[in-house]
Amino acid sequence: MSILSQTAVILVAAGRGTRMGGELPKQWQDLAGQPVLAHTIAAFQAAGLGRILLVIHPDDESRARALGLPFVPGGDSRAASVRAALEALAADPPERVLIHDGARPLASVALIRRVLAALSATPAAAPALAVTDALWRGAGGKVTGTQPRDGLWRAQTPQGFRFDAILSAHRQHPAEAADDVEIARAAGLDVAIVEGEEENLKLTYPADFTRAGVILAQRAAAHSTSAHRQESAMDIRTGNGFDVHRFGPEVAGGTDCVLCGVKVPHGRGLAGHSDADVGMHALTDAIYGALAEGDIGQHFPPSDPQWKGADSAIFLRHAAELARSRGFRLTHADVTLICEYPKIGPHTIAMRAALAEIMGVEAGRVSVKATTSERLGFTGREEGIAAIATATLVQA
Ligand code: MG
Repeated sequence: MSILSQTAVILVAAGRGTRMGGELPKQWQDLAGQPVLAHTIAAFQAAGLGRILLVIHPDDESRARALGLPFVPGGDSRAASVRAALEALAADPPERVLIHDGARPLASVALIRRVLAALSATPAAAPALAVTDALWRGAGGKVTGTQPRDGLWRAQTPQGFRFDAILSAHRQHPAEAADDVEIARAAGLDVAIVEGEEENLKLTYPADFTRAGVILAQRAAAHSTSAHRQESAMDIRTGNGFDVHRFGPEVAGGTDCVLCGVKVPHGRGLAGHSDADVGMHALTDAIYGALAEGDIGQHFPPSDPQWKGADSAIFLRHAAELARSRGFRLTHADVTLICEYPKIGPHTIAMRAALAEIMGVEAGRVSVKATTSERLGFTGREEGIAAIATATLVQA
């Protein structure tokens, strides 16, 4: 069995909390649309703890029933309330128990886990923060002395215990105590200090509610941002494209090949239905591939005369806009032209700029490079040019 299934949680919510003002005790007052105690319960459930016992004032029975968890009536003091809950759990004793103030709704999962982890090595562990402010004694509105703060801690909950040890400590100590650590120590138990959290505040005054509301809103915003980031990071796509165009006949006085949107002077142009920009066609197909949207031929059929001699930028722009309309950002494109001639190197900067402009991205995200095929094959015999391309899309 796991530590979590062997651990019970007691939420102490029996107090009448008059310092808050208002008609309801503080643990039942509204915080961000729910009773404070409902937030406290959620904090422990988020840590994977399912066995939760509420200690309530008998007047709050109908409110407790609405929370759907077992509850026991508390006693005349905090210690008596905790003892009532421990005795109720003793019928089916857990191995460990966390005892927590119902009016501390902001304990984090990390804090709860720290306390549980410490219980592996010690019978008792509780969170606290070292006192960092200077301490004074005062009377009549004046400072009457200073108090060294060394070794002083601000105690928090959840306070964690081996169940048998704290049950027996409570049975030996029927009097009131500040908290369960005092009772554990009275029974001779060692209590380890675990690092507490500034946000784990005990709602006592109206200003505490305001602060708790701000913290909850910040956590909700952080949660939705990280959930959104996770979703978008999950849809990263890579598509590839490949294309070949043959060279047309030699043109007296020379002509141009259109490659990646740039006119490159050469003795022969490339043959094809459109402007035959082999690099741009490969890249366009890579984007369609990443979107699982077929290829250029499906979007711009060669049988349709309107694409005869067309500027291939129309095709690439269409693919890039389709990606954007699906919520994708083109984060990278890489094109390799394979040919002996014309020499591509002097034109790559212009090609990158041309492709980037058509796709609406920065040139730094676009690569164009070239290779020969060592005079082998159709590219080696200068019958045509081949191009391969890869495009990476990320859902924005
Ligand atoms: Mg083509």
